[in-house]
This record gives sequence, structure tokens and C-alpha cells, in this order.
Amino acid sequence: MREKNNIDMKKFIPIAIPSVGSHEERAVINVLRSGQLAQSEYVYAFEKAFAQYTGSKYAVATSSGTTALHAALLSLGVGKGDEVITTPFTFIASANAILYTGATPVFVDIDEKTYNLNPTLIERKITKRTKAILTVHLFGLPADMEAINKIARKSNLLLIEDACQAHGAVIKNRKCGAIGDIGCFSFYPTKNMTTGEGGIITTNKKALWEKLKLIREHGMKIRYHHDSIGYNYRMTNIEAAIGIEQLKKLDTFNRKRISNANFYIKELKNIKGIVLPYVPKEYMHVFHQFTIRVTKDFALTREQLVDHLRKEGIGTGIYYPIPVHLQKAYKNIKKSSRFPVAEKAANEVLSLPVYPQLSKKELERIVSVIKNV
Ligand SMILES: *Cc1c(COP(=O)(O)O)cnc(C)c1O
Repeated sequence: MREKNNIDMKKFIPIAIPSVGSHEERAVINVLRSGQLAQSEYVYAFEKAFAQYTGSKYAVATSSGTTALHAALLSLGVGKGDEVITTPFTFIASANAILYTGATPVFVDIDEKTYNLNPTLIERKITKRTKAILTVHLFGLPADMEAINKIARKSNLLLIEDACQAHGAVIKNRKCGAIGDIGCFSFYPTKNMTTGEGGIITTNKKALWEKLKLIREHGMKIRYHHDSIGYNYRMTNIEAAIGIEQLKKLDTFNRKRISNANFYIKELKNIKGIVLPYVPKEYMHVFHQFTIRVTKDFALTREQLVDHLRKEGIGTGIYYPIPVHLQKAYKNIKKSSRFPVAEKAANEVLSLPVYPQLSKKELERIVSVIKNV
């Protein structure tokens, strides 16, 4: 029999846990014993493997997804006076990276079903200052790249993919991060694969690759000759060694995430007031998050459901409770319109645990608690 309101009676299921094991441990020990802790051979090997995995020619590893985005924008020449179109429904780093360059983020509302940029709303936001579109593949679902790419080509705009939640996600055999001009990934511990902290940039353009390496390393090609102002955005060998092992497991991780998601979809369909994730045809969603909507037709409010699940020993997450344009930090950033779809999503979304190590028993427990509300 289930003990009510007693978290200690059963193992708490958190919203996410990184999947690292003995392979990663051994790899880290090898680096520590080598004495080469900072960026060198492990980082270059990881970049090669990641580029190959995504189908990109080049990859540049960085210290985080945020620094990947910043470096990517700089390499494309985005700066003061430029506008970059992006989504208000994302982790704040997507928009912050635009601000770091001196450019202005111009928000475009999302599609209600996919949570990604709504391509039909983009063109009216293009001005003569618009330089790029920064699209996010939120929760692991690729954005509508066909439509967005068409708009970018037509208006001669650069296209940046924030693939920080979409490692291995695919549209018609093309991997996210290798579709636009440049792709950025994060390896934070909750992402589909991790290096602790870390990020990477993918591109097919050699000139961008060369620029990115300078931006990452204080504008230095020859030791202590600094031809431009850069940063220290390097990844360590320790992180890269973890990344090499994680990349080998990424497809297995993603398959497990998808199978967990399919279990939820099968079990939670037809519950009044619960809206399940939508996956367009020929899109592979890698379920960085399994995100439902809790609408006013559900028996509990979203906040009551969060509470109830927590009392039953189940962790959840709200990604994201406040869209970027409504953040205090953005109160002085000019917004040219309202974003009702993003605001509604922020009020309704709820993410359930979907990480690869979840057992069938745990999934069944989560489903049964929701069904019995
Ligand atoms: C995680 C994330 C980032 C930032 O990555 P960090 O490694 O945490 O700096 C950027 N954009 C999105 C959409 C993310 O989910």
C-alpha cells in the first residue's frame, strides 16, 4: 500500500540526473594522470567526434553553452546597432548572448504546439538593422527550420541554432546544429549529454571556425601575439574526456528518453486538461524535457499538481515560469509587441522526469499518481 505524504517511504524521483559512470571516471583519471588538464588533445579529439556526429565540418569546444552562443554571434560579426530575432520562451542565455555583443534581441512569439519560434510572425519583425535569426530547439524538438531558413535566405540573414537542448535531434536526416550557419550546444549536467559545464559550436564554414578559435583564446594564433580582443572560453581536457565518453552513449540516452516519452504519451492521453507534447512528421524530438500543459480543465491547478507530485516523491520542473521579455533584467529592453502565446505557455507548462535511467516502475508510479488525481 502506498504511504500518503511520506517522501521518505520511497525513493524521490528528481526531475533530472546526469548519466555518468565508470567510463567517464576512467577517462577523467587518465587526464589527471597525464598532467595536461587544460585544452589540448582531448578537446581536439572531442571536437572532431562531435563535428562528425552532427554532420558538420568543424566544431569548437567552449566553457559553456552561453559562451558558445556569445562566441558564435561574435564570429558572425553581430554587434552594436544590429538586431537579432529570437524567441522569448527560452532559457535566458539565448537572449543574453545577443545583449553581450551590444546587439538588440527582437522577440517573436512562439507556436502554441511546438513552443518554438512561429515562422509566420518573423517577417514583420525584420528591419534594415536585422542581422540574424537565433532559433532555439526548445525541449529537444527541432524548430521549423525549413520555413525559418527560407526567411533567412530571402532576407539575407544569418541563422544561428541554439541547440543547447537538442543534441542528436533530427529533421529529415539532418541533425540540429548543422542546418543553419552555426549551431551551439551546452553540456550542463541536465542536458542530453554532459561534460559538467561546457559547450560546443558547430559550423561548415572554415572562416568561422578560424574566427571562433581566436575568440575562444584571447585572439591568439601565435603564442602571446594578440591580433584581436578575445576571451578565455576554453573547455578543459577533463571536461572533454567526459564528453568523448558521453557522446558514445548519446544515441542510447536519446532512445531511452524517447521511449520514456512514448510511455507517458500512451498513458496520459485522454486526461482532461492535460496537453501532451506534439512532434511534427519527420522530426525527431529528443525530449530534453517532457513538457505537458496543465490547463484550467484539469482537476488541479498546475501549482497544486506540482505540490501533489512532490508529496508523492516526484520532482517536476517549470521551464520557464517567466518568458524573457517579462524578466526584470529586460525591463529596459524595448519590445515591439506582446507575446501572448509565450505568456500562456509560461503559465501552463510542467515538465516531468524523462531522463534515461528512469525505471519502468518509476514511470508507472508517476503516471499512476497523475491518473489518480
Ligand atoms: C542550457 C541552455 C543554454 C546555456 O547553456 P549553459 O551551458 O548553461 O551556459 C542556452 N540556451 C538554452 C536553450 C539552454 O537550454
